[in-house]
Amino acid sequence: MGTRTVRLSAAFALALAIAPAVAQQQKYDLLLKGGHVVDPKNQLSAVRDVAIAGGKVALVASNIAAADASKVVDVSGLYVTPGLVDIHVHVFAGTGERGSYAGDNSVYPDGFTLRAGVTTVVDAGSSGWRSFEDFKDRVIDRSKTRVLALLNIVGAGMRGARFENDLADMEAKPTADMALRHKGIVVGIKTAHYAGPEWTPVERAVEAGTIANVPVMVDFGTNHAERPLADLVTKKLRPGDIYTHMYSGLRNELVDGHVNPGMREGRQRGVIFDVGHGGGSFVWRIAAPAVKEGFVPDSISTDLHIGSMNAGMKDMLNVMDKFLAMGQSLDQVVRWSTWNPAREIRREELGHLSVGAPADVAVLSVEKGRFGFVDIYGARLAGTQKLVCELTLRDGKVVYDLNGLTRQDWTTLPRDYRQTGDAKWDALTPAPVRRDPR
Ligand SMILES: [Zn+2]
Repeated sequence: MGTRTVRLSAAFALALAIAPAVAQQQKYDLLLKGGHVVDPKNQLSAVRDVAIAGGKVALVASNIAAADASKVVDVSGLYVTPGLVDIHVHVFAGTGERGSYAGDNSVYPDGFTLRAGVTTVVDAGSSGWRSFEDFKDRVIDRSKTRVLALLNIVGAGMRGARFENDLADMEAKPTADMALRHKGIVVGIKTAHYAGPEWTPVERAVEAGTIANVPVMVDFGTNHAERPLADLVTKKLRPGDIYTHMYSGLRNELVDGHVNPGMREGRQRGVIFDVGHGGGSFVWRIAAPAVKEGFVPDSISTDLHIGSMNAGMKDMLNVMDKFLAMGQSLDQVVRWSTWNPAREIRREELGHLSVGAPADVAVLSVEKGRFGFVDIYGARLAGTQKLVCELTLRDGKVVYDLNGLTRQDWTTLPRDYRQTGDAKWDALTPAPVRRDPR
């Protein structure tokens, strides 16, 4: 509240005239009132108020007094969830080879995440140990989105086939060293797109993951009889390692129309199965029967990049919609997009709304109507509901507000509000550059 007193200005004096409550010492900076809170970690799915103070969740309860908050936002009829956590994206933009994932197939995160309720993303191996610090400088340190990374086992990162098939540049030690140097930001190791028959990329990634004590995510590349999927998830990966692209259809995820028994065995061992929709890895004829058999994801992720987001995959909410369309509950879908992925990357302070947690919050509406959801081959599944992001908070600050839910009606503002601004808006809008640790 100290900052509020030093912010006293003509603008503020005017604001006081309209909203005298601001003058008192409120316990909370922001109160989201009347929404249906879905917080799977805390087994909560009910109408609750959410109070935020100092960028943290301060209280989740029924009927928190409006007078206790500097700003009250009516979110009745909407869902309030933890900020979404997307553990497979490509955001190493502005560098690299043409068409590569570290390069012009990557997007800058803030343009695509906040508007979909996503507050944390994990770049899945666009950078390797040789390029990570450049990535951190260009993107991680400049984004409003919380950007974390899986280091590619390829030192050069995802710069195209020539680099990604170079076994000589897959070194466990320097990869692990870089991961340890940026502990908490580098949350794991990635191996991807390998076209050869050897297990070397997986083995080196697991070795790096073991040294750095972080999980490994695998995009299993080209299918080879020499290295079957069942062996990957039952023998090569450790419990807690992540098989992404679980419904790709490219690596025998279904056998004779049923879920590969190796995948079930892998899941029993503790291997994680992640969606990683992308431009080439989500197929209705694989996903629908697998989900029907109960082989649902541990986590939903987009594999966001320029190719995927302009094709079947639109954004995180679209991938969540696809699971709603397959009959999964909203509570379940939110779990797969918040608490489960946060746990998988061992950032357990994220993905929930416990008191004291960073106030990363998504406020979502569920639109009813006639919608269609498209897989990577262009096949469509009809659905009747669609999630829309109304409001996103990162560390308690408004970073996206579709319908101006947090804003005042213009007729209630001082006459020349262009000049006077809005003290509360300033207080809720973050500085552009964030500091470590994220
Ligand atoms: Zn990817």
